[in-house]
Amino acid sequence: MNKTDIKSMNMEELRAAVTEMGLPSFRAAQIYRWLHKTGAESFDEMTDLSLSLREKIGYNFVIFSSSIEKKLISEYNDTVKYLFRLHDGEFIESVLMKYSYGYTLCVSSQAGCRMGCSFCASALGGFSRNLAASEMLAQIYSAQRDMSIRVSHIVLMGMGEPLDNYENVTRFIELASSEEGLNIGMRNISLSTCGIVPKIYELMKTKPQFTLSVSLHAPNDVLRSEIMPVNKKWGVEELLRACREYAKVTSRRVSFEYAMIDSFNDTPENALELAGRLRGILCHINLIPLNEVREGEYKGSPRDRVDAFARVLSEKGFAVTVRRRLGADINASCGQLRRGNSAAVAGR
Ligand code: SAH
Repeated sequence: MNKTDIKSMNMEELRAAVTEMGLPSFRAAQIYRWLHKTGAESFDEMTDLSLSLREKIGYNFVIFSSSIEKKLISEYNDTVKYLFRLHDGEFIESVLMKYSYGYTLCVSSQAGCRMGCSFCASALGGFSRNLAASEMLAQIYSAQRDMSIRVSHIVLMGMGEPLDNYENVTRFIELASSEEGLNIGMRNISLSTCGIVPKIYELMKTKPQFTLSVSLHAPNDVLRSEIMPVNKKWGVEELLRACREYAKVTSRRVSFEYAMIDSFNDTPENALELAGRLRGILCHINLIPLNEVREGEYKGSPRDRVDAFARVLSEKGFAVTVRRRLGADINASCGQLRRGNSAAVAGR
């Protein structure tokens, strides 16, 4: 019999399940607390349940566990990168970043990725499978337990394309923000997408209050299609139309990510074209000097060009930030560690 992944269930489903097992419904709240507040990894830890009850639950349900395969700490001590091994032997990565306002965890949504962006290490490692909501939560619980800290912010910017795993990702956000769980405020959650346009429309129907980040990286189709295959399906104009609509419907600023690639997309003319495209969209622009993942291919733009680019955009009235590069010394860009792990790539 296939056991049900209990940590992916919301309170309502858990209540229905315990009732069906003939248990009083308060047991659901008890179990949920163990799973999501304490971060229990086995039913044996649930000491306020009788042994026979634990056995009964364990017969129907499973708590997926993941173990830390590798852990790298950056020399500035502000970034920790984890490689987790999942119950079926897959590997995923998460990055814990320390900011003045708290800890942010960069969470993976898939083992691998099928979007194929040419500058991204996750694409190079190939795609294995979607992660369950419980496996996204487990990244947070493991990091918290390992470092004895609380994570206050989540960015879905690890491996994978969140909108390519829509159901599990939205469930993960529901669970992580639940009062009985981590209770992380929607304003402290960001979801980053390479631009799966139909899913952006689907998402906006629910009027989400978390931040939508869009990996734009280029002001036009010629440049964007060269580095992001997804652009051949949904071009810049179609994507930006969805973003404009999203900002209107949700009254939330869309955040555009723009990786600055040396002599590719980083001239003042590129900045002007971008400004023209984004005019009138309630947004924020985040410039990130590209992290080089494959030697000799793409390089990050030099700082002065990033600053000049930022200046053009702010003169045009846009809110722009240049992202601090945390963890470059520990290969903190998504996918770099999974790929570097020989066990992780064996058999692919
Ligand atoms: N699939 C999602 C989320 C994962 S990647 C997306 O595409 O948005 C998180 C961010 O890191 C994206 O903006 C992605 O384009 C960017 N990124 C990937 N590789 C990078 C690299 N080598 N240097 C800088 N940013 C990179």
